[in-house]
Amino acid sequence: MICEKGEQTAFIKQEAIRLGFSLAGISRVRKLDEEEKRLRDWLASGVHSSMSYMENHFNMRLDPSLLVPGAKSIVSLAFNYFTDKRQNDPGAPVVSKYAFGRDYHKVLKKKLNALLEVCKNNFGDLNGRVFVDSAPVLERAWAKNAGLGWIGKNTLLIAPGKGSYFFLAELVLDVELDYDPVFEADHCGTCSRCIDACPTGAIDPEGYRLDAGKCISYLTIEHKETIPGKFSSKMANRVFGCDICMDVCPWNRFAKQHREPDFEPKDTFLNMDKTAWKQLSEDDFHKIFSGTPVMRAKYPGLKRNTDFLQD
Ligand code: SF4
Ligand code: SF4
Repeated sequence: MICEKGEQTAFIKQEAIRLGFSLAGISRVRKLDEEEKRLRDWLASGVHSSMSYMENHFNMRLDPSLLVPGAKSIVSLAFNYFTDKRQNDPGAPVVSKYAFGRDYHKVLKKKLNALLEVCKNNFGDLNGRVFVDSAPVLERAWAKNAGLGWIGKNTLLIAPGKGSYFFLAELVLDVELDYDPVFEADHCGTCSRCIDACPTGAIDPEGYRLDAGKCISYLTIEHKETIPGKFSSKMANRVFGCDICMDVCPWNRFAKQHREPDFEPKDTFLNMDKTAWKQLSEDDFHKIFSGTPVMRAKYPGLKRNTDFLQD
């Protein structure tokens, strides 16, 4: 059994890397007082648009001990999904890189459960819960707290020397561990590339704040109604998600090809040209996108998004 706090901390990080995570850091569970005002103001301004679920569990979002009774430590993990692969037709509507392969919720949940299991087997008395985009957890704030990186002007977690093409995930445990220092620096400096490049002006001119209702990612996936005309002409050929504010970020020049076989795209998807997209049948939608995040848009949603493509 591994009983000493420092050894347990090292073991968790080592096992996380063995399971394929790129980064692991640990924070003490507490109420994120510094996030309270920001979250309250963001919700009050209504920019979360139709994502009303963001209004639920306000206190739980700020304090994971309300979510997991007895929680003492939160392990923040980052999993690389960057790929050099491209859709073969440069004129084809663009799908966000995170959606190229198998649904990350499933892939990462399996790895997180394996990590929890190996901790239980080696630490003796231990309980915990795993999260990947699945509960009211302020993932980016915890990742910053755990020293993984800073939250950039595009509102994404950026890891120095690695970029931002990461899925974030958490393991909340009821044991004390050694904690990493908060990542205090902000390496955005005077850069404003993400703000300048955003086709719909979704990022605040000063950065660090997103109007979700204007974001192509929201409009193509979460928004269930007709896309308002003022945005439909600015979709930049995106049909599922949008990577523009990451693609232009200079820190992503450090991004490296992921090594996760489950995130490999199918050739049938990569080979879809513009005509194939326009003629996509419901049967083919299921054949090509089954098991990927694209299913979240559902067939009518994806068809709605392709309707805006220019000839
Ligand atoms: S994802 Fe696209 S639309 Fe959303 S903020 Fe980034 S660049 Fe703008
Ligand atoms: S593009 Fe520039 S301002 Fe935007 S997140 Fe990256 S470094 Fe920061």
